[in-house]
Amino acid sequence: MRPTGRLHLGHLVGALDNWVQMQDTHDCVFGIVDWHALTSEYQDVDKVNRNVTEIAIDWLAAGLDPSKSIIMIQSLVPQHAELHLLFSMIVPIPWLERVPTYKEQMQQLKEKDLSTYGFLGYPLLQAADILIYKADTVPVGEDQVSHIELCREVARRFNSFYGEVFPEPQAKLTRSPKLPGVDGRKMSKSYGNEIQLSEDPNSVRQKVMTMMTDPARKRRTDPGNPDVCPVFDLHKVFTEPAGQEWAALGCRTAGIGCIDCKKRLLEGLLPVIEPLHQKRVQLEKDPNTVKDILFEGSRRARERTEATMQEVRQAMKIKYD
Ligand code: SF4
Repeated sequence: MRPTGRLHLGHLVGALDNWVQMQDTHDCVFGIVDWHALTSEYQDVDKVNRNVTEIAIDWLAAGLDPSKSIIMIQSLVPQHAELHLLFSMIVPIPWLERVPTYKEQMQQLKEKDLSTYGFLGYPLLQAADILIYKADTVPVGEDQVSHIELCREVARRFNSFYGEVFPEPQAKLTRSPKLPGVDGRKMSKSYGNEIQLSEDPNSVRQKVMTMMTDPARKRRTDPGNPDVCPVFDLHKVFTEPAGQEWAALGCRTAGIGCIDCKKRLLEGLLPVIEPLHQKRVQLEKDPNTVKDILFEGSRRARERTEATMQEVRQAMKIKYD
């Protein structure tokens, strides 16, 4: 995950919840990829640095567990950079230029100069991040599938030149329910409409109570349509089925008001946010523990990746002793 900002509920239900579960079934490595953040945020290095700690705290509060998984900072594992460099020798530039997110992001982030090698090489660095652990599975959203496909092509090309070193990883598509922000658009830091994991429960309550609803439901006596209401999209994620039925029926028949509906949503949402927030506060008071976890995770990652790099160097005849 790139440390470009504080995490919000969308990250929790789109990624973190899945990762927490995968810790019990897989040998997992979770990386805060600060070099990746620099590919687009190279003019704001303070922000990237600050966000590394923020993200680590969010992860630990959400349930990532250093006794089950490796939790590391990419730049503390220089083997990633070495493998990226070696991959850059063998991967044709058009492979990178045709990755769909490359052109899309260039368009979307017009205010930034992204005509850099680092930005073009982003998916290649990502391939190094994955292949260096000989990963078999990568949990990703739909938009990242093309990156995993490139990663598989890189593995094939390397293996065909130098012998079998890398397995081809599979993308594991993660459940990512539609999660609107408080203004009804997709929850996103760039829209400023997010509910952050670091927010205290009072602020979450306030945001939900002022959240946008079905715009056609102007008065309490007007029936509404939950299918176009962002509050109802959150019910689908945080409210149990009986509560969802209650909200949908009450909305359509004007049997409930939007205030009742939002209060019911908070009954499901706050029990998720409150323990997370408490754990976050504890971790914020203890920055050394967070640092130790990241350093120890990065040390273990260096051990694992160095073993792969020895095979890579051997395969590429980069050995002079
Ligand atoms: S009652 Fe609930 S679902 Fe219906 S418009 Fe109001 S907030 Fe949305």
